[in-house]
Amino acid sequence: MGFSMTARDFMDYLAAAYRELAANGDYITALDAKTGDGDHWANLSLGFGKIMAASEELAKLSLPAMFRKTGSIMMSAVGGSSGILYGSAYLAAAKVAEEILAQGKDSLDVETLLATLEAQAKAIGDRGQAKPGFKTMLDSLLAGIVAYREALVEGDDRAALLALKAGAASGAEATRGMEAVKGRASYRPNKGLGELDPGAVTMAIQLGCLADYLIDNCLK
Ligand SMILES: [Mg+2]
Repeated sequence: MGFSMTARDFMDYLAAAYRELAANGDYITALDAKTGDGDHWANLSLGFGKIMAASEELAKLSLPAMFRKTGSIMMSAVGGSSGILYGSAYLAAAKVAEEILAQGKDSLDVETLLATLEAQAKAIGDRGQAKPGFKTMLDSLLAGIVAYREALVEGDDRAALLALKAGAASGAEATRGMEAVKGRASYRPNKGLGELDPGAVTMAIQLGCLADYLIDNCLK
């Protein structure tokens, strides 16, 4: 069993992720109000809203062009550091997709999705000067990547995707025991200890939706 994810699939996945994030919008805002300034969901939803408004056009682009455009929308529409970080992540994804396209493929499979996620994590870490354990979105993304990378050597794409989802969720949960090193939460007396990082939570929601979307629609 393998999967193939096109630009149109990616837009359909983002639509599903937007619905899931919106369903959790009040929860995310309440989380962010405890450690940040409470605008994380409001910011993210501006970007997703703009992407959804352009999704039919984006779905018709090549994978690298779609990632580039998605990145530039995120960078311009999402306020705060999230916009820059998500924008950088999608620009990094576009570079990976360009290499894949140069080899004649305009879709992602189990291996190239890993390369894409790894490039996104590197871009976020570099741009945000964040490391694992800093209580950021990187903590759920990297935990998802590690679980996915370990599982995919078994050759079962469905199991690898389920590992991505579960790894990201446990990575988000692990931020509860971390002290923030960067951002607003680091100025709080307890550095957010005992609270989940909202950026890690929204990242885990997206990766969970990505896994679900691929399992339900793209596995053959
Ligand atoms: Mg904020």
